[in-house]
Amino acid sequence: MVQAPKGTIDWLPPEGGRLDALESAFAAFARRFGYRRVFTPVFEHTEVFLRLGEATDIVKKEMYTFEDKGGKMLTLRPGGTAGVVRAFVEHGIGRREPLPWKVFYAGPAFRRENPQKGRYREHCHLGVEALGDDSPQLDVEVVDLLMSFLTSVGAGPLDLLVNSMGDGACRPEFVIEFRAYLETRLDELCDECRERVRTNPLRTLDCKSPTCRSVTDAAPKLVDHLCSPCRAHFDSVCEGVEDLGWRSRLEPRLVRGQDYYTRTTFEVQTAALESAQNALGGGGRYDGLVEDLGGDPTPAVGFGFGAERVLLVTAEVDGEAPLTAAVVDVTEGGRSGTRILAALRRAGIASDAAGRGRSLKAQLRACERLGARVAVIVGPDEVARGVVQVKNLTTGEQREIAIDSLAASLS
Ligand code: AMP
Repeated sequence: MVQAPKGTIDWLPPEGGRLDALESAFAAFARRFGYRRVFTPVFEHTEVFLRLGEATDIVKKEMYTFEDKGGKMLTLRPGGTAGVVRAFVEHGIGRREPLPWKVFYAGPAFRRENPQKGRYREHCHLGVEALGDDSPQLDVEVVDLLMSFLTSVGAGPLDLLVNSMGDGACRPEFVIEFRAYLETRLDELCDECRERVRTNPLRTLDCKSPTCRSVTDAAPKLVDHLCSPCRAHFDSVCEGVEDLGWRSRLEPRLVRGQDYYTRTTFEVQTAALESAQNALGGGGRYDGLVEDLGGDPTPAVGFGFGAERVLLVTAEVDGEAPLTAAVVDVTEGGRSGTRILAALRRAGIASDAAGRGRSLKAQLRACERLGARVAVIVGPDEVARGVVQVKNLTTGEQREIAIDSLAASLS
């Protein structure tokens, strides 16, 4: 038997309806905040992702990369940001549209991870990006959007963690100090972290090994070494978030899985999932990425979240759209029922056929299985008189209605 690849999910009904409902709810929310829908390709030239930072786990170990005919290297997107930024640069949006350019997206993302609950090789990635504005109020807006959305779909209680990664003025100097500290304790670090000390010391903060954590716990903190513009930006973000009623917690370890972040990073966690998968979503500022991808210097901020994790922690998202009517047809050949069903659907009424060609009793049982509100019973005598019987499946009450006014009576 052929099976789906490891780490992928078949979204069968009713779960498929829940995923759909979550995406629609997010789209409505993002629009309410002034974000517009964007679609970018599921695969990009590999170099788009390489420019995100070659020392991150995602880029180094988790990308699905393949060679296209003609030798071009392509990669299935591991998240939404890079493609949006590439499109922003490619279409010269910074020069021809009002900024900030605020967009949202939803679609599959691919990472070759070890699958477990809440961690998959293909997941449904949703998010927003706002490009062209360095105001801390925009950071506050995206945090508020993510927190409000997750709360509205019943994913709480939520922990909001924040940090600042500094910028090109303060971070390089800090990294020198941080590396020098780690070098004094190299023999206590795992092999991977020893390598990170050389390539990308801040990544050691992501390591889950308890010994590495105790070394980095005692290390100097970037958030204590911010230059004054970064400090002022971070303070404004924290105050702004609090003004909107969200309690945040400073987490100096929060460097997140990407190297492109500058200044604000944030993550929304839940206690309802294992710690390796407890981040429902997160994001931050990436003021250097547009330039890294060949555009003019353009500050930007955004977040992403995985639909699967959110659906794991909320029971409130219901994707089942109930049927209004089920058509029971006991006429010869069933054409009358087909016509009535088509007319109901054209009038916008959710309706289906109940067990075509079977006995009246079997068709009525099928109506209940379909969860319809009413059964529309189409019999030869009624059709001859231009009427149908409409049975309320909750109360059992039945009345005769003219076919011409059926749709209006059900809407
Ligand atoms: P990241 O792009 O790594 O900051 O991830 C943002 C969010 O995407 C996470 O908080 C998760 O909700 C979701 N996510 C990332 N990777 C996966 C995965 N492998 N499986 C499911 N969800 C994921």
